[in-house]
Amino acid sequence: MVDLKRIERIGTDALRVHWADGHESLYTWSVLRAACPCAMCRDLKEKPPPALPLEIQPVGRYAVAIRWDDGHATGIFSFDYLRSLCACEACRPTEMDEG
Ligand SMILES: [Zn+2]
Ligand SMILES: [Zn+2]
Repeated sequence: MVDLKRIERIGTDALRVHWADGHESLYTWSVLRAACPCAMCRDLKEKPPPALPLEIQPVGRYAVAIRWDDGHATGIFSFDYLRSLCACEACRPTEMDEG
């Protein structure tokens, strides 16, 4: 399991996560809000509108919960899930397969 070292807010529109293995991930809030893993959001046919986080709370040692300014607070992002959302070049699945 991946471990999270530090969470850092970048201005008003992004979140940077420092992982224990040295990796860094940058997420915009709109991406995180749209990726909310709770049952309610998964059932939505359309993505929820972008929102800003009011609070980020650790959940045990495996996840963070985000409370949004649209009143939503049931989404719990496990570290594994959060890491899987990383869109950096190293994490992005490569379409091109040489060879
Ligand atoms: Zn949700
Ligand atoms: Zn990455």
